[in-house]
Amino acid sequence: MSLIPRFSSDRLSNITEADLQPWLQPTQLKSHSGQLPTYIPCLSTIDSQLLAVTIQSDRSPAIHVGNIDTVFVLMSLIKPFLLLYLLTHQDPDYIFSRVGIEASDQPFHSIAQLINDHGHPRNAMINSGAISLASLLPGQTATERCEALRQWLNIQAGCHLVMDESALASVRSLSNESNRSIARRLQQSGYLQDIELVLETYNQICCLSGTIRELGRLGLLLAKPQPEIPDEVQHMVNSVMLTSGLYESSAQYALRIGLPIKSGVSGGLLAIVPRSGSIAIYSPAIDEVGNSVGGLFLLEKIVHQHHLSLFRTH
Ligand code: GLU
Repeated sequence: MSLIPRFSSDRLSNITEADLQPWLQPTQLKSHSGQLPTYIPCLSTIDSQLLAVTIQSDRSPAIHVGNIDTVFVLMSLIKPFLLLYLLTHQDPDYIFSRVGIEASDQPFHSIAQLINDHGHPRNAMINSGAISLASLLPGQTATERCEALRQWLNIQAGCHLVMDESALASVRSLSNESNRSIARRLQQSGYLQDIELVLETYNQICCLSGTIRELGRLGLLLAKPQPEIPDEVQHMVNSVMLTSGLYESSAQYALRIGLPIKSGVSGGLLAIVPRSGSIAIYSPAIDEVGNSVGGLFLLEKIVHQHHLSLFRTH
């Protein structure tokens, strides 16, 4: 028997489909306590019992379980990848002068937080931070800016993110006053110039969509060494995800799960197991904070069963 400690990479690639099966029905039951978001009309009519899981590590074939062909919009799941793109293409000191790294205990679209912080966006995982960063994407139009991010991610991750035009129309159909107030305050504090351009860019990047496989493959960009992404940039994004990726619940889940995680109001959840791989879950019903109820339930079960927390000592 080997006395060499087993690293989390072994633990992730040891997970089988049979390990996940017993948790699928309890996850669907658990998701009944969540709600579909109503402020984006297209998300309010989705089947809340959909469930898909992907576990990707490059030591074994990926595991895909459930409604794996369902395409969903990333919403805030794009935020760590916007940060990743900008940190890879521009000076990190400059990027972190445009967005902070402090956790927030206010909702993801809070204008009060931004006002209290004198117009400085706290972190890249909440709307103020992502709207500030959306202004830094290269290109003249929102579509060019979104395309720059989409194409880079597709090439780097070997995935096929596409723009969901009907979701974008749905997002545009109701005026999002909190995001507009955030953009106005950011403009006053000098973080952006053209409010319409930035809000349209932000809406477009939130409407990039894919299946659970795409989300899992995106996760590998933060989990495994990448030829075009410096290690320290991965480290920065993972750290911000750990402290802020689940909004006000981030600290609670840093303790309960112990991995960098990001959620989106469409019900996607992505966990990074550094040096090892990713766990992606789609379960559309969300809690009052905006995190997938079934996703967090299932992720916690997987992480405990396979000892995946970064902070475990044995
Ligand atoms: N586009 C959404 C919004 O701005 C993203 C929020 C989320 O996914 O958490 O409200």
